[in-house]
Amino acid sequence: MKKQAMNKPNQIIVIGGGASGMVAAIAAGRKGARVLLLERMQRVGKKILATGNGRCNYTNSNTNILCYHGSHPGFASDTLRRFNSEWTLDFFRELGVEPRMEADGKFFPFSNQAGSILDVLRYEMEQLGVEVICEQNVLKLKKQGSGFLCQCADGKEFPACKVIITTGGRSAPNFGSNGGGYKIAEGLGHKIITPFPALVQVRLNAPFLKRLKGLRLDGEAELFIDNESHRKEKGELLFTDYGISGPPILQISRSVSQFSKSGKDLFIQLDLFPNWSQEELILLITRRIAANPGKPIDMHFIGFLHKRLIPVVLKEAHIEEIHSPCGELTEKEIRCMAALVKAWRIPCTGTQSWMDSQVTAGGVDVSQVDPHTMESKIVPGVFFAGEVLDVDGDCGGYNLQWAWASGHVAGESAAGGTLE
Ligand SMILES: Cc1cc2nc3c(=O)[nH]c(=O)nc-3n(C[C@H](O)[C@H](O)[C@H](O)COP(=O)(O)OP(=O)(O)OC[C@H]3O[C@@H](n4cnc5c(N)ncnc54)[C@H](O)[C@@H]3O)c2cc1C
Repeated sequence: MKKQAMNKPNQIIVIGGGASGMVAAIAAGRKGARVLLLERMQRVGKKILATGNGRCNYTNSNTNILCYHGSHPGFASDTLRRFNSEWTLDFFRELGVEPRMEADGKFFPFSNQAGSILDVLRYEMEQLGVEVICEQNVLKLKKQGSGFLCQCADGKEFPACKVIITTGGRSAPNFGSNGGGYKIAEGLGHKIITPFPALVQVRLNAPFLKRLKGLRLDGEAELFIDNESHRKEKGELLFTDYGISGPPILQISRSVSQFSKSGKDLFIQLDLFPNWSQEELILLITRRIAANPGKPIDMHFIGFLHKRLIPVVLKEAHIEEIHSPCGELTEKEIRCMAALVKAWRIPCTGTQSWMDSQVTAGGVDVSQVDPHTMESKIVPGVFFAGEVLDVDGDCGGYNLQWAWASGHVAGESAAGGTLE
């Protein structure tokens, strides 16, 4: 079987069986091309199973270019306009996946199983006769005549007329994406924009983290870089022993990751009452005190703040005598408390590692890739798609949307002109 594959020089080879690679293989297969997909893990699509907490948030109805980042974010706009979330929903509906829309335009399979997405992609590849060989770690791509030779770690070589590189980035290497694709691209003369982890938990420098570990609350997080507001996001926040996580934090983590080693001063400002003004909070605290002035200060805040948060916030607001009657709180102390829960500034030191990050920022420099075909401008016949490129999206289904859309463009473009 493998020998047969090795003797098909007119085949298209897809390197990497993740989201973008499988769609690229399907798009090329539907155009009638012979396709061989090489995957370094024992199975294709391992990462897909972990997406959306096992439910796969596979697209978002709010997809637009502003949700994407990179050195040249406009690179993705043509592809995302032509192959938008409607296209993705239709693509998967045709394969059998009914969509379920949830908050903020996020789509999941109706079955609520990420496995459904993987199953239908694998089935479609099978129907189209896409050959899949797993445990083939491609190390290098060599030019050979008018085509290429894919050289693998075990010494095997596979000839191809065209190659699509869909090896992902460096995030979550346990699912196969270990940055190997960058080496293949560099070997061809491509420039790599230094990758860094995005959509990842943030590390904070604060003495109270162990006490707050596991605490969840709704609020707003705003990133400041050298005292300038950078990005603000609302949603569920989760304290951990090293810092903070939750959807708003993942959204702002890209900038933390990008600037944490720049020498700039980074802090996250938390608003624990985003729907209240500071004056409203002061009024509320004052009214509560007037109703029961003899209550100890720490008891006074029960039912208003999470119990584990009370001693921490009081300490941060420099209120030391927490068992004194709350009637003894001065106006200045009440103001200080309200100001703190509205704008609690905590310094950040960086992010968690590649292992924890959901997506890679940086990658193959897109100025060397044709945005309409995904073909390399410096090595014709080589195409790229997905996270290996210097394009990364926000949290909410945008990264898979990019993987499907760019994979489809690369697959169709590579198949154009290869048919006998
Ligand atoms: C925990 C987690 C949850 C996520 N949840 C979501 C979500 O709900 N919605 C969303 O939009 N995005 C989500 N993402 C991001 C999304 O999964 C990725 O952006 C997307 O999978 C990228 O697809 P890709 O095909 O470009 O790369 P990958 O999915 O990383 O696939 C790359 C494939 O190439 C293989 N490979 C690598 N190098 C080689 C080589 N040298 N030779 C052969 N094979 C190779 C790898 O083994 C892998 O199978 C999540 C990511 C993680 C880690």
